[in-house]
Amino acid sequence: MADNQVDNVANDANMSGKRVVRRFTCVNCPLGCDLTATVENGNVVNVEGNVCLRGETYAQTEATNPMRVVTGLVNVSGSEMPASCRTESAIPKALIPKCLQAMRSVELKLPVTIGQVVVPNVCGTGVDVIATRNIGR
Ligand code: SF4
Repeated sequence: MADNQVDNVANDANMSGKRVVRRFTCVNCPLGCDLTATVENGNVVNVEGNVCLRGETYAQTEATNPMRVVTGLVNVSGSEMPASCRTESAIPKALIPKCLQAMRSVELKLPVTIGQVVVPNVCGTGVDVIATRNIGR
């Protein structure tokens, strides 16, 4: 199964720009359609393999600005158990390393409560990192 990677980069002799063909597996439903997106000059000009419109939207986003929910662990002062955390919603995939770095720089105090904001506005995305389990409650 092709897994969200560049499969072919070629200069199209009939076009002025570079054409990139990318393949993805749609994760929006169990059918898992194999999608092929053609990108020219940074714009998705064609999507094939999708059964429904959600697949087309998914391929467009994956090809131009992929987003991910980020999960990680944050140290808790006075606890051997770190707090599991995640971003409240998806952030640009390119910011994952900086997001994880921000999580590593935090040390929470007991008690930790589910939904507690751990890192507000992580990496300037407008998205908070929140705790996903209670510790010491
Ligand atoms: S394109 Fe539509 S039918 Fe295919 S996996 Fe995505 S959501 Fe499901």
